[in-house]
Amino acid sequence: SVPLSFFGGIGAASKQGILVKGSNYLEALNSVDAVAFDKTGTLTKGQFSVVDVASQAGIAKDQLLQMAASVEQNSTHPIAVSIMKAYTGKLLSIEDANEQAGHGLTALINGQKVVVGNAKAMKADGIEFTEADAIGTIVYVAVDGKFWGDIVIADEPKEDAQKAIELLNNRGINKTVMLTGDNEKVGTAIAKKLHMSDVYTNLLPENKVEIVNELLTESHKDNKKVAFVGDGINDTPVLATADIGFAMGGLGSDAAVEAADIVIMGDEPSKVSKAIKIAKKTRRIVT
Ligand code: ADP
Ligand code: MG
Repeated sequence: SVPLSFFGGIGAASKQGILVKGSNYLEALNSVDAVAFDKTGTLTKGQFSVVDVASQAGIAKDQLLQMAASVEQNSTHPIAVSIMKAYTGKLLSIEDANEQAGHGLTALINGQKVVVGNAKAMKADGIEFTEADAIGTIVYVAVDGKFWGDIVIADEPKEDAQKAIELLNNRGINKTVMLTGDNEKVGTAIAKKLHMSDVYTNLLPENKVEIVNELLTESHKDNKKVAFVGDGINDTPVLATADIGFAMGGLGSDAAVEAADIVIMGDEPSKVSKAIKIAKKTRRIVT
């Protein structure tokens, strides 16, 4: 039977905006030795803003933004929101919009295929393009098989993110891993700033699952557990893979909240440490 004190622990956690879906997860938190984090929306604000637009010869910057914004108009991804904010003109109507996790989007505009996304998206469509050399998340745009240019957007770490890593380190949890679909420059710059131990970039959702499986193999050897913290719909598979999946409920998608074992209300990743602290206390009362 479940010790009553675990319910006490669940209650204490919920008062702090941490919703634990079962006492077994609270118990498992005692053994965590590695925490993996999604980047966008989890460690960073997820509020991108357009900092540069570079178009190929013969294409106006405004035209490039119009194409990108039109394709992104139905997407709720933070990148889409920032592009929509930067383009205030008239949107073109789109057909057959298709969003691909970790890549970007494609849609038809006036019968022409428009691709908006990262280098992977361009390669997948066989577009010849020039890699931009900026520190930022770079969104490339191609129309009818031709490269039109790129949009550079920037996102910042949350104020709470550094504290989240620091508090884990203070608890002796030194394996703090960033898993991101974003490019290497951005991923490594942010991971370094936050003093994280490991960073993996250019990942598709299935790659995140692979890496968490590797972490599980390592941790389980020592009877330890792996937690993953994410916010997006893309994070659903990896939330289910980790021993303990945390969803950030503030900005998080319903699917992520559903797949998670623990839901953090609001947007503070440092609540992961708070949850571990409550788990340790709960355990002390039980034994
Ligand atoms: P993260 O792993 O950092 O949370 P995502 O998995 O959401 O990021 O996205 C990974 C990458 O895929 C983004 O950095 C971007 O290059 C591309 N991407 C995803 N969705 C879109 C979109 N709607 N528009 C443009 N690019 C996108
Ligand atoms: Mg994300």
